[in-house]
Amino acid sequence: MLPQNREHVSLQFVTGLSEPLSAPLEVGFDYTRSLGPVHSRFATELSRRRIVGVRGSDGRVHVPPIEYDPDTAAPLDEFVPVGSQGTVVSWSWMPEPLEGQPLQHPFAWALVLLDGADTPVLHAVDVGSPEDIRTGMRVQVRWAEQRGGGIRDIACFEPATGTPAAPDEAEPEPVTMITAPVHLHYQHSASPEESRYLRGLAEGRLLGQRCPQCGKVYIPPRGACPTDGVPTEEEVELPDTGTVTTFCIVNVPFLGQRITPPYVSAYVLLDGADIAFLHLVLGCDAADVRMGMRVRAQWKPREEWGYTLQNIDHFRPTGEPDAPFESYAQHL
Ligand SMILES: [Zn+2]
Repeated sequence: MLPQNREHVSLQFVTGLSEPLSAPLEVGFDYTRSLGPVHSRFATELSRRRIVGVRGSDGRVHVPPIEYDPDTAAPLDEFVPVGSQGTVVSWSWMPEPLEGQPLQHPFAWALVLLDGADTPVLHAVDVGSPEDIRTGMRVQVRWAEQRGGGIRDIACFEPATGTPAAPDEAEPEPVTMITAPVHLHYQHSASPEESRYLRGLAEGRLLGQRCPQCGKVYIPPRGACPTDGVPTEEEVELPDTGTVTTFCIVNVPFLGQRITPPYVSAYVLLDGADIAFLHLVLGCDAADVRMGMRVRAQWKPREEWGYTLQNIDHFRPTGEPDAPFESYAQHL
């Protein structure tokens, strides 16, 4: 019985007795783009419930319009109105729509050849089941109520019923910019080593791991030494003091920025670590930050801590003499 017990204890030690941490991770931003003359014309016409293509050097009408001829690469500017009805060229069924797709119930993706066009456009067709769509079927545009957003002015296609909706006769405002939201959902699961590091942060501790062969200390730990390829199992608690190795002064404002520029983003090498990580350096004039500057973590109030390096609000100068270049030259 004894050897089995010992093996069991040893396994628990290796796995750290705790489950890896896992949390949702949302990545998203609104991508705003200018359209240029060709796509601007297409989007402007869509906003008044008209569709235009562009004629290429071989006489074919491309829908959506393309900016340059596929054969000669010459800029294209001969716009050609096409119909808002067309024919299904091919299709596939979308049984479980994804967020952001044109319809939120099952639908068909189809290549639709609009009347007067020579290239098909890809869009959704709103039919109840795969039995309700076929190649050669006639369909028409269902216009979005709110227009001015580019291709999304076409809500979807639907089976053709007769006369297409009349276009707006009013002269529209030119559409020169569109906003394309980008959004990704992840469920991020940390490795066992990273989980121990994150749990350490929640207690105000900085936990790295040392390679048994080269002796280097990595924080955050990745579970293996990238140089030697061996597991790093020895845990090392590091102090919250370190040295600025390299840095940049951020002068450019951007969406979601929490601090007014100028401010300093720097690589901080904790004392005893062999790899630096990126953090903020505040508490002095941006122009005074320099390589070798000694810094200490400024932790947020305890009640604001979570499983994140953001528990450290920023690093600030300690006032000690600068570290000699040789002490961090291998860590740049
Ligand atoms: Zn190593």
